[in-house]
Amino acid sequence: KSLQFLDELQLSVKNGCEGFYLCYQPQVKTGNYQVYGAEALLRYHSEKRGQVYPDEFIPLLEQSKLINVVGMWVLATALEQCKEWRRFDKDFSMSVNVSAVQLKEKDIAERVLNILRESGLPGSALTIEITESIQLQGNDNFMDIFNRWRDAGIEISIDDFGTGYSSLNHIREIPIDVIKVDQSFVKDLAGDAYSQSFIKMVAELAQTIGVSVCVEGIETPEQFKVLQGMKVKYIQGYYFDRPMERHAFEAKYVK
Ligand code: C2E
Ligand code: CA
Ligand code: CA
Repeated sequence: KSLQFLDELQLSVKNGCEGFYLCYQPQVKTGNYQVYGAEALLRYHSEKRGQVYPDEFIPLLEQSKLINVVGMWVLATALEQCKEWRRFDKDFSMSVNVSAVQLKEKDIAERVLNILRESGLPGSALTIEITESIQLQGNDNFMDIFNRWRDAGIEISIDDFGTGYSSLNHIREIPIDVIKVDQSFVKDLAGDAYSQSFIKMVAELAQTIGVSVCVEGIETPEQFKVLQGMKVKYIQGYYFDRPMERHAFEAKYVK
């Protein structure tokens, strides 16, 4: 079944990433609770299967390395969208997920910088989210890539923080701008002292090294309330809104 699906994805990629599209989820700044940007999230529409979510196709794209092509399509499409929305909100910011497989691709640093240059946007319009499920610290290649992106003004965000390799005492060795705490710490945030302490501690520590914290997966007013008073800068979750297609996002948050 997944071989058939892979064939389908392969054909899609060959046809210019046909069937792929992006949804956008608002990202909110604490303090004024205004939407300052969005995370671009990939979706696939299959003739046979209908709408397919990333959990089903990202692993296939990664195993087959098709992610290298699709990932660049995501970046170019999201930046184009950001440029359009900046006509209405000059500081609109776009977050794009980059897979560990892409980081290992030769020339990935240049390829990203080229797409940014072609978009005409400043680096500060873009945040690249890298999942913490790969070991980042101690990898000179990755550090070099992050440094080059940051020199161009791009922000680096460590996604799913708390689930992977980056122990808190190593985090300052990685050139990053944002720590995005994993959703698992939010699930029972309202009643769980450990999760509360974890987020609080990460936020305190992050502040001392000049890194911002984003908490994602906020669904309920109770979870939202617990975060008040913690040094969290960005929030994302169904409590504010779900990921939505570009027209819906635009009508609600941009125009
Ligand atoms: P992620 O980067 O951690 O993205 C957050 C996921 O949580 C998204 O799922 C989003 O829809 C969902 N989410 C947001 N708010 C809430 C909430 O309040 N409650 C709950 N339960 N979920 C929430 P989605 O869109 O299905 O994406 C799943 C994963 O697929 C992403 O996790 C990311 O790792 C990957 N992904 C998505 N788009 C891309 C892409 O363009 N490139 C790469 N490499 N990976 C992508
Ligand atoms: Ca992400
Ligand atoms: Ca995440």
